[in-house]
Amino acid sequence: MLAYTYVERGRFALLEKPIPTLKDSHDALVRVTLGSICTSDLHIKHGSVPRAVPGITVGHEMVGIVEQVGTDVHSVKPGDRVTVNVETFCGECFFCQHGYVNNCEDPDGGWALGCRIDGGQAEYVRVPHADQGLNRIPEGVTDEQALFVGDILATGFWAARISEIKPEDTVLIIGAGPTGICTLLCARLKHPQRIIVCEKSAERARFLRMHYPEVQVVSPEECKTYVQANSAHGGADVVIEVAGADDTFRLAWECARPNAIVTVVALYDRPQVLPLPDMYGKNLTFKTGGVDGCDCEEILRLIAEGQIDTTPLITHRFPLSEIEKAYHVFENRLDGVIKVAVIGKLG
Ligand SMILES: [Zn+2]
Ligand SMILES: [Zn+2]
Repeated sequence: MLAYTYVERGRFALLEKPIPTLKDSHDALVRVTLGSICTSDLHIKHGSVPRAVPGITVGHEMVGIVEQVGTDVHSVKPGDRVTVNVETFCGECFFCQHGYVNNCEDPDGGWALGCRIDGGQAEYVRVPHADQGLNRIPEGVTDEQALFVGDILATGFWAARISEIKPEDTVLIIGAGPTGICTLLCARLKHPQRIIVCEKSAERARFLRMHYPEVQVVSPEECKTYVQANSAHGGADVVIEVAGADDTFRLAWECARPNAIVTVVALYDRPQVLPLPDMYGKNLTFKTGGVDGCDCEEILRLIAEGQIDTTPLITHRFPLSEIEKAYHVFENRLDGVIKVAVIGKLG
């Protein structure tokens, strides 16, 4: 089968590999019908994910059809259409039991697919702990509608959930890349009084204004003044930092009102400064981390009900055989790209 592979630092290649086989009774084999490229894939390519294993098939955003299941898999069966979770988790350890599945104690726990074990920019993928890692796609929901459920949409949903958004709140979201937009879609479901999105790129600001006219869009330069003028208590009640740029962590806590919640979803290239003397008395609550991707069933229900629609994010489509081209467009942000869909094996 075709499998896009992390060969060495700086180089991915589309290789011919054998179709994966089940290694454990909790595994499932999924035929990938649609996949995507995530910024984390680029981080692997550029060597900034030290735990990524050379030789692995990359890709951790995908949907497909179950081909085969191990004897201990009970929640899905061959023929089911499923979303694949970016995280592998056992469902049984202390962290899984408390919903902190990102920290699952299993050796493959956390982000393993397409990083430490073979992922889904391929015709087939083996999914460990399939009862946890796969969710059935409801009837009437298309592959494109479900494509981001297991990764960036799970992240946006988790970020909105832990941010404790209330109806009277002004919510500031910093960064309108794909994950920022998913965060926006999920924050909207909490019906806060106001959502302000801070985005640097004029192209992405235009996209926001076109698709989400009720949202207020500001540039980083005007953000702090704008938020102060457009919130009830001198700053945002909730700030969700999704950008991960050089100055955005500072912007996040500066735009927060006293006693606000600041949720950091962003993954930074460098350590950030937490200047406690400057923020003394502001009494902020910081929440940080990688997604606990255990809400996929609920997210799929919301998609089926028409409450979340991420399909406008898919701006480009390529067959798996042309994945090099897809990376070129995505990595260089050509042609207004937000996300690409990579069309897999259709059966
Ligand atoms: Zn990702
Ligand atoms: Zn676990």
